[in-house]
Amino acid sequence: MRAEILAFGTELLMGETVDTNSAHIAASLPALGVDLHTVTIMGDEMADMVDMFRKCMTRSDVIICTGGLGPTKDDLTREAIAECFGETITLDPDLIAAMEQNFRNRGQEMPETNKKQAGVIPSVTVLPNPRGTAPGWWAEKDGVIIIAMPGVPGEMVLMWAQQAAPRLKERAQGTVIMSRTFKTIGLGEAAVGEYVSGLFGRENPYLGIYARQDGIHLRIITRAASQEEALDLIAPMEAEIRAALDSAIWGIDDETPEERVGALLTERGLTLAAMESCTGGLLASTVTDVPGASRYFRGSLVTYATEVKSIAGVAPALIEEHGVVSAEVACAMAEAVRDALEADVGIGITGVAGPGPQDGIPAGTVFAGVAMNGAVESTVMRFPPDRPLVKRRAVVMALLQVYRMLLESQQ
Ligand code: ATP
Ligand code: MG
Repeated sequence: MRAEILAFGTELLMGETVDTNSAHIAASLPALGVDLHTVTIMGDEMADMVDMFRKCMTRSDVIICTGGLGPTKDDLTREAIAECFGETITLDPDLIAAMEQNFRNRGQEMPETNKKQAGVIPSVTVLPNPRGTAPGWWAEKDGVIIIAMPGVPGEMVLMWAQQAAPRLKERAQGTVIMSRTFKTIGLGEAAVGEYVSGLFGRENPYLGIYARQDGIHLRIITRAASQEEALDLIAPMEAEIRAALDSAIWGIDDETPEERVGALLTERGLTLAAMESCTGGLLASTVTDVPGASRYFRGSLVTYATEVKSIAGVAPALIEEHGVVSAEVACAMAEAVRDALEADVGIGITGVAGPGPQDGIPAGTVFAGVAMNGAVESTVMRFPPDRPLVKRRAVVMALLQVYRMLLESQQ
């Protein structure tokens, strides 16, 4: 089944809103057995929308669109589909009643303009919207399915998961595309590629290699008639990858460094504390995104100003001697916070977030120190000088360093 996605919304064209809806839908299509071939972003122009729908109907089995289901004049998705299908929109009294009830439940009267959202055509099955007023459309004619969902991501995600995707899966019954990602640490792209060189060049399962923020990823992609068959195809290649890379693999699929570190700390009954400078508390925020972090996370001191690092226990003489952005200071921060917060593992992060250099050190330079088991180690990284990116990547680097040291301490 060949699919395409249309994201409607003039604001998407202006770059104000990033089209996350299409990415969300695209990510779930392989598991449904649906082949996606095109994603288009379009403004809310009736003539263009009709043209586009006509074109899509000649080349796709299913057209999934978001946006333009609102009550205002510039919301034209329903009108454009009706035009292409040659059908007339009528208002569904049951839908109007349900929408009015919805408004009353929130203590409001439904504005007259919202009635437009109860419009249907004969070829449509309505997809209920538990989070908003605009129902979605499952429109089907001459072997082509058009799924229209609201633009608001929270509404779309729920409608897609509960209504549209299950229906589509039933209809697709095609090939299932499945993937498994192995995330590695401590090896460059060439080295990782070398370890598994014999596995490249096959068609099914296919092996890809990608350099990402959190290390080099290997990704197995396979096509099969069913999920079970896909798993069977993945298994032998997975076994070879695990045998070849062993402890260089820190995570699988969606696993994050904070989850893996959290799991290891929990397993070992250890606690973590941090002293953060250039990350401004992002490490604490990231670590506490994981449910159950209270079991192992003691806290983080954000010691942004140099004097504050001294207040928190880093010797002024050390800072004077090595400079505040240095391996020595990162290590001293890690030891100081480990002791002050009575944790087993201490992290210290100091760097230059940018955009300009500081004391001759180029922007994007970050030192992370990790103290545990009486030892302290530091790493230095040079990231592109983009502040939010430097902060994120510094957090990932520090957490992966903790992960690596925890693994090594077990051996
Ligand atoms: P509404 O009832 O709110 O008018 P709608 O179905 O008409 O819903 P739009 O008006 O197109 O949808 O978009 C509503 C909001 O949803 C937009 O302000 C935008 O912030 C967000 N949005 C729309 N399309 C997307 C998209 N593709 N990705 C992410 N956000 C989007
Ligand atoms: Mg709208």
